[in-house]
Formats: sequence, structure tokens, C-alpha cells
Amino acid sequence: MIRTEMLERVRTREKFWDFIIIGGGASGVGCAVDAASRGFDVLLLEQKDFGKGTSGKSTKLVHGGVRYLAQGNLSLVREALKERGILLKNAPHLVKKMAFVVPCYSFWDKFFYGTGLKIYNLLSGKSNFGKSRILSKKETLEKLPNVKPENLRGGVVYFDGQFDDTRLLINLAQTAFLKGATLLNYARVSQITKDKNGKIDGVKFQDAGTGEIFQIKAKVVINATGAFCDAVRKLSVENSKNIIAPSQGIHLVFAGEFLPTENALMIPKTSDGRVLFAIPWHDKTLVGTTDTPIENLDLEPQAFEKEIEFILETAKNYLAKAPKREDVLSVFAGIRPLVKSENAKNTASLSRDHTIEIDEANLLTITGGKWTTYRAMAEDAVNRAINLANLPEKKCITENLKIYDVDAEEIQKLIEENPALAEKIHADLPYRKAEIVHAVRIEMAETVEDVLARRTRALFLNARAAIEIAPETARIMARESGRDEDWINEQIAEFNKTAEKYLIQI
Ligand SMILES: Cc1cc2nc3c(=O)[nH]c(=O)nc-3n(C[C@H](O)[C@H](O)[C@H](O)COP(=O)(O)OP(=O)(O)OC[C@H]3O[C@@H](n4cnc5c(N)ncnc54)[C@H](O)[C@@H]3O)c2cc1C
Repeated sequence: MIRTEMLERVRTREKFWDFIIIGGGASGVGCAVDAASRGFDVLLLEQKDFGKGTSGKSTKLVHGGVRYLAQGNLSLVREALKERGILLKNAPHLVKKMAFVVPCYSFWDKFFYGTGLKIYNLLSGKSNFGKSRILSKKETLEKLPNVKPENLRGGVVYFDGQFDDTRLLINLAQTAFLKGATLLNYARVSQITKDKNGKIDGVKFQDAGTGEIFQIKAKVVINATGAFCDAVRKLSVENSKNIIAPSQGIHLVFAGEFLPTENALMIPKTSDGRVLFAIPWHDKTLVGTTDTPIENLDLEPQAFEKEIEFILETAKNYLAKAPKREDVLSVFAGIRPLVKSENAKNTASLSRDHTIEIDEANLLTITGGKWTTYRAMAEDAVNRAINLANLPEKKCITENLKIYDVDAEEIQKLIEENPALAEKIHADLPYRKAEIVHAVRIEMAETVEDVLARRTRALFLNARAAIEIAPETARIMARESGRDEDWINEQIAEFNKTAEKYLIQI
């Protein structure tokens, strides 16, 4: 994927696009893969970078959602478990089966969670990731060596999937591209255009690099802007009512020593009645999440002090050696695209099902749902869009579509051409210089933040280390893309501004 070539395609296009998709998160890129693989002409526009929104800030689980089981939403759990299996089949290089252990401090919990997780197993049918079972105290301590042993009665183990959200997103964008889609990051949609009947016929967007404004036409426009969808809905119908009840969730990242195992820890009921996970991720420990209703939507939401305290306190109740504030390597927050309900008491009880809305101007909005169900959501949205725009009926093929998987080979090739690129970028991070070059050459990484936050996960794994390597990253990127010293300095300053938000004050 080369950005200048994508832009050139837009510039030289004379015909209507079949689809314009607004938003480069899981929902938008999923729709691009679906529509392009059915043979439609697709243009996707993302205002910042792919995965800059919620899709880069998830808990990184491919799961049915044990919590939704507790809420009795069996159809959502069943669908998500089916999608979990499809994702493992189509992207085995990115999805990994993982054992989750629920430590139990009463015999009732052992029975209760043992039974619940058996149902979870049964619901997964053929796409079972492994059988759940009850564990003795000894087995629980073997599987979770740092869990608090006092009053431990045993545990329950069950299986789910884990992935790297932005790596999957980039591989999905590449899959869409290979199927003919055009995808642009740094392309913000600022206006929706209509025909003489008041129906949508295109959009205006601005290329952030040049400032150039493009007016483009399409047969159907999909609004896949997640938690940010109300602003785009208002571009279409000015007085439309908000449908999103935004709530944020945060994660803290610690060293791997706090969870010295390949298994995840699942706390099924925290003091506020939620689920909390501690998960091994790229040799670190990822702990989260929270659910805090918010007023303002921000692409870089910040953790509230009480959310940080809550996670530290909860971890202290379950871990023998508990992480402290000064052990936090990174903190990040994302906004759930929850769709409002008249009856819900709080955001934690709002539905995680997806919602499709078609407004009076024919803007199709797809929002809600989960990362795990992005493929089913895209299938649903594209089916509806085909009907809406009277496009030729073409069947969805994504259930059996392999997701782009040649990163490792391409990076190895770069290292063979230039062995200096094998050097690690930082002692505490698992990345090599070749990954920076690769991100610039074919993954449309435009800024230092794109490389350190989403092509690699440096910022999420260790914010301080990411700040330390920003200058070297900028220099490598500048060499690749012919940028000057001013660009380097600007990029370092910009990156530091964002990275500050991933550090916590001690
Ligand atoms: C804390 C947290 C943890 C989660 N954990 C999990 C998990 O473990 N597993 C799971 O399955 N799901 C999880 N989810 C849910 C999942 O992450 C989201 O449902 C999913 O990422 C939403 O994707 P999206 O594409 O709809 O939205 P987003 O990823 O937010 O994408 C929308 C995009 O639209 C762009 N945009 C907005 N306005 C414009 C415009 N005018 N022009 C162009 N572009 C625009 C934004 O920049 C953004 O990139 C989690 C969610 C949260 C908040």
C-alpha cells in the first residue's frame, strides 16, 4: 500500500465509486474487505491513521464475551464464538488460543463459574478453542504463579483468543487493497453531498498532507466511524439525534513479571460488578478494562485517576506481588461505540450488538458490535448497502478469505538486503529497524506515531522507551521518504505530545 498511489487513483477516477466507506477502524476496514472481495469498487477514508480510534485500544481479545453470557445474551455470545473460530482460521498468524484462569476464593464460585464456562464451551460448538474445566488449588497456582494463595479454593480454566488489534487491522487493509480497494489515511470527510432528490451521492474530504480538498461521488456511503458516528450522521441529516452513549475503558501495561505465565487471569466480578483481565501480551502484562460514561469524544481520551486507582486496587486483591503506580509502563484509553437504550441503567448494561441505521438521505451507519464480530458486521452492512443502492447481488466470501500474511517474509527480505536493519530499536521492545522501513514503504505509515503506536506497539508496551526511540525512528523514516530535518524535529515534538498521555504521573 503506497499512499501517493492511492491518492492518484482518487485524483484520476472519473466514474462513481460503488462504495465510499468513512472510518478506518475494524468496522470500516472490515466493510472494505467485504465489498472489495465481492468485486465492488471501494474507497475508504480515514481522518487520521488506521486504528487511531477505538480499534487500536481494545483488550485484544477474540472472544465470545463471558460477561455477555452472564447478561444472558446468548445469541451475541454464540455469534462471537463462531466469528472467533473464523478469525483463527483466516488469520492464524495473528490470533492465538489462550487459557484464561478464574481464581476462586469460595467453593460456590468454583461451582458457579465452572458451570457457566461449560455453557460457554457448549455455545462455541465446532469452533471450540479448548475444554473448560475446574482446577484444584495446586493446579490454579501452577497456571497462575503470582495469584494470591490465601483462601484460594481452586479455579476454572477456559479458552479464548488473543490478537494484536492494529496488526490485524493493517493486514485487513492490505487484504482489501489486494482485492482492489483504495484506502487513504489522513483523509477527513468534512461534507456529505446530495443529488437533486436529497439522497447522498458522495463526500468531500481533505488530504491532510497537501490540504487539497476532493469532491468524490459514490453509489452508496457507509458511515463506519464507531463512537464518532453521530458527527458524520449530522453531516447527512443536520438535526439527527445522537445514538451513541460513549463510555471509555482503560488499560494499564506492566512488566511480564506480574503474570509470569502464558495464561491470562480473569476476574469475573470486580467491586463494580465488571470483568477484569490480566493478559500476557508481547512479554508484558496488560490489565483492564473499565467502563466510565464520558461527555466528550476525543481520539486520544485520557484515563481518569479513579480508573487507574481502580485497576491497581483490584490487581492488589488478586496478585501476590502486585504492581504499583510506578510499575505502569503505559496507560491507554478507548471509547466504546455503545448505542443508546431508553431502558439501560448504565453503560455496562448497554448492548454490544451492532446497529445499522439508514437515514432519510440514505447514509448507512454501522456502529456498535465488537472487534471479534467485525466480519459479520461488515457482511450485514454490505448486504444492506447493496439493497439500498440497487447494486448487483454478489455473495459475501469473507468466511473463507485468508487475511494478508506476508509481513514476516517481507521484513526478513529487508534484513537480507541490509543486515543493519536487524538491529533492535530498543532493549525493552521486541521490534527491529526493518519494521520501521517496512511500515513506511508498504504500510502507509506517515508519522512517527503511526510507526510507534500502530505498526509496532511500542507506545502501548512501554511509553518511555517509545519516547526514547522517537528521534531514531524519525530519522529512519525521513531517510526512507526523503523528508528533511524540520520534519524530523516536528515529528519528534508531535509524538512526545501524544506519548505524554500514555505516561502516568507518580
Ligand atoms: C476499552 C475497550 C476494550 C475493548 N476490547 C475488545 C476486545 O478485547 N475484543 C473485542 O472484540 N472488542 C473489544 N472492544 C470493542 C472494539 O474495540 C470496538 O467495537 C471496535 O474497535 C470499534 O471499531 P470501529 O471501526 O467501529 O470504530 P473505531 O475504531 O473508533 O474507528 C472509527 C474511525 O473513524 C474515523 N473517523 C471519524 N470521523 C471521521 C471522518 N469525518 N472522516 C474520516 N474518518 C473519520 C476515526 O478516526 C476512527 O479511526 C473494546 C472496546 C473498548 C473501548
